[in-house]
Amino acid sequence: MAKRALVTGITGQDGSYLAEHLLSEGYEVWGLVRGQANPRVSRVRKLLQDVQLVRGDLLDQGSLISAVEKVRPDEVYNLGAISFVPMSWEQAELTAEVTGMGVLRMLEAIRVCSGITGSRGSAADQIRFYQASSSEMFGQVRETPQTESTPFHPRSPYGVAKTYGHFLTQNYRESYGMFAVSGILFNHESPRRGAEFVTRKVTLGVARIKLGLATELRLGNLEARRDWGYAGDYARAMHLMLTAAQPEDYVIGTGRTRSVRELVEAAFTAAGLDWEQHVVCDQTLHRPAEVDLLCADPKKARTQLGWEPTVSFEELIAMMVEADLRLLADGHDPDHDSSWP
Ligand code: NDP
Ligand code: GDP
Repeated sequence: MAKRALVTGITGQDGSYLAEHLLSEGYEVWGLVRGQANPRVSRVRKLLQDVQLVRGDLLDQGSLISAVEKVRPDEVYNLGAISFVPMSWEQAELTAEVTGMGVLRMLEAIRVCSGITGSRGSAADQIRFYQASSSEMFGQVRETPQTESTPFHPRSPYGVAKTYGHFLTQNYRESYGMFAVSGILFNHESPRRGAEFVTRKVTLGVARIKLGLATELRLGNLEARRDWGYAGDYARAMHLMLTAAQPEDYVIGTGRTRSVRELVEAAFTAAGLDWEQHVVCDQTLHRPAEVDLLCADPKKARTQLGWEPTVSFEELIAMMVEADLRLLADGHDPDHDSSWP
């Protein structure tokens, strides 16, 4: 019988790549969707026609229990979150509820539906659980590159909420013997990345300038450094973690770090443009507290899971610029509709 997976955050970037990967592995895939008329559900229906949908919200415990009871999944991937760092200062409480407490609600739904009441669950028919942890938990880094044992010092309400979810996942593994793991994923991008994140903001900006739809691109801190990889590669890592022999946490990244300035240069160059003629530095886009430097040490994932990234930074940025040129040329604009390229 096909394995069944339940994915929260199915309307997001990672949900789409993970669903495609799981379908290609023969899974029956269910996506949790929320809201009465969520416009992003239609793009899931269009792109992922084999995914079945179930209603639920990470803010609503009962809905998660009902979803787990209905789907009876073998694996749950918790990707749902308020995921944009600046928004986490504007809506700190909501971020804590969705990104942090949502993890507790999902773990409780699994625990209750699995009938785990004592200290240890039975290994036989366990529902496996994946938590989307983040390199933002490292925040003000104490060492570079960052490994699974680097201490956390989150720098935003988002990072703090993710750190709660991370430790809670570990705690349910230790308390109840659940197969519950966290992937500490560094930034990963694609043509389906939300338009508010810096890579996509830059590649969309480049495409708009190239097509004569804009002349400038306003950005914040150009000196921040991130370890950027391709989302499709990272979805594969999530599945490898959840099908491993032992439940363990892994750092997933490329091991190379670049500044926002280097990202900008790469994107403008990919379109044959000079970034210095178009980029405007805007102090209002700087954050109350910044994460200056992130760089993964993915050795554990490489040696224990056999995971390797397949798309280089230059290929990723060129892929995104090309996709955005096509998207805009076809008359779509992510500021006004939610089509995926
Ligand atoms: P997106 O922002 O693209 O997607 C977030 C998803 O969360 C959407 O599907 C959204 O659904 C859903 N969601 C928001 N609120 C709720 C709620 N109350 N109940 C249920 N679902 C909700 O994120 P990504 O795909 O990029 O990331 C996936 C996960 O990985 C996130 O948890 C993110 O924080 C984490 N992560 C991402 C990294 C990255 O670089 N992409 C790096 C490290 C971690 P809706 O359409 O209903 O709003
Ligand atoms: P994050 O690492 O999860 O916060 O991902 P983002 O893509 O939102 O931001 C990555 C880095 O780019 C951060 O250090 C931001 O401060 C920096 N950055 C500089 N200008 C911008 C901008 O205009 N938008 C965003 N989102 N980030 C910017």
